[in-house]
Amino acid sequence: MSDTDIAIDAAFDSGNVEIVSIDGATARLRIPQDRKSEFAQWFHFRVSGAAGRELTLVFEDLKNTAYPEGWPGYRACVSEDRDFWGRADTEYDANSGNGTMTVRYTPASDMAYFAYFAPYSMERHHDLVAEAASAEGVTYRRLGETFDGRSIDCLEMGDGDKQLWIYGRQHPGETQAEWWMEGALEVLTDPADVVGRALRAKCRIHVVPNCNPDGSARGHLRTNAEGVNLNREWAEPSTDRSPEVLAIRNAMDESGVDFAMDVHGDEAIAAVFLAGYEGIPSWTDDFCERFYRYQRILDRRCPDFQTAKGYPKSKPGTANMTVSTNQVAERYNATAMTLEMPFKDNDDWPDQAQGWSPERCKLLARDCLAAMVEWFDGEEG
Ligand code: ZN
Repeated sequence: MSDTDIAIDAAFDSGNVEIVSIDGATARLRIPQDRKSEFAQWFHFRVSGAAGRELTLVFEDLKNTAYPEGWPGYRACVSEDRDFWGRADTEYDANSGNGTMTVRYTPASDMAYFAYFAPYSMERHHDLVAEAASAEGVTYRRLGETFDGRSIDCLEMGDGDKQLWIYGRQHPGETQAEWWMEGALEVLTDPADVVGRALRAKCRIHVVPNCNPDGSARGHLRTNAEGVNLNREWAEPSTDRSPEVLAIRNAMDESGVDFAMDVHGDEAIAAVFLAGYEGIPSWTDDFCERFYRYQRILDRRCPDFQTAKGYPKSKPGTANMTVSTNQVAERYNATAMTLEMPFKDNDDWPDQAQGWSPERCKLLARDCLAAMVEWFDGEEG
């Protein structure tokens, strides 16, 4: 046994933690807020010097995070090789330290990475975009630029007349979304994959795998470099608050939108679900049925998807038009939806080792695309 203090680092892509104290293999930690905002929830850091010792990582003050209801039932993500992400034993105590989460883990090697969900780095993003862009029949478009000078990357493919938009990670800490995008792009660019072939035959497909690269690199949960929540900017996006949304919405204005899926993660609900566009001004039963029909198709095809748990539906005329799905449905008469994946596990199909995982995000993407093929078939009658 050694009494040597462990070391904690977060000065890397999407790193985020504040060290309160370190004593031996025990650390007290806090989660810093996104720059210029009050949202805090995403953490990502490295612990070194703890091989064979039980780490005790105590996160304090969690009632001041964005979603305190995200912590009960949550288990922290951990990896020693930055490839396989498992889960560590985690306890939440609402009654001590203004909400305290204690993570215990004994690394076999001298290094362990911890994160709110398996990180999706900007380097991996660039690999994803470059690889997809080099596939046959794929066009790369740079839709715009962020405050930090990063590009809004869009990959386009397909010869059909329906305009399909797939975009994710408006909320950068919801890394599930880009794991999903990786699965989707593998399907869409693989010449042997008949789901991709069928969708490319029916649609012109526009994929924005990361709508918020600045927030991603900075280790934010929910905002861009200026502290703006992009999924509240769709009614009036602007160059001085939300150049990311302005660039994407302008491109949508050019192409039109028939079907749109905006991919997210949810902190509290341990399930995969969709949210539609109830309550928009042009809502009708027929219009919304297009969304519900997709939801039924996905529900039938995919055991990881369910409809019992989710968000309450907006009452007539009360939809928040700054939210992407509502704005896109209204603006383009599009079948639009928000896909939510858990940070916790999927309670219907729990996985003790990994919880909800990158691998499951990718598999879900294939089911979502296959459900789109069936949905478009049904539209054609
Ligand atoms: Zn989100």
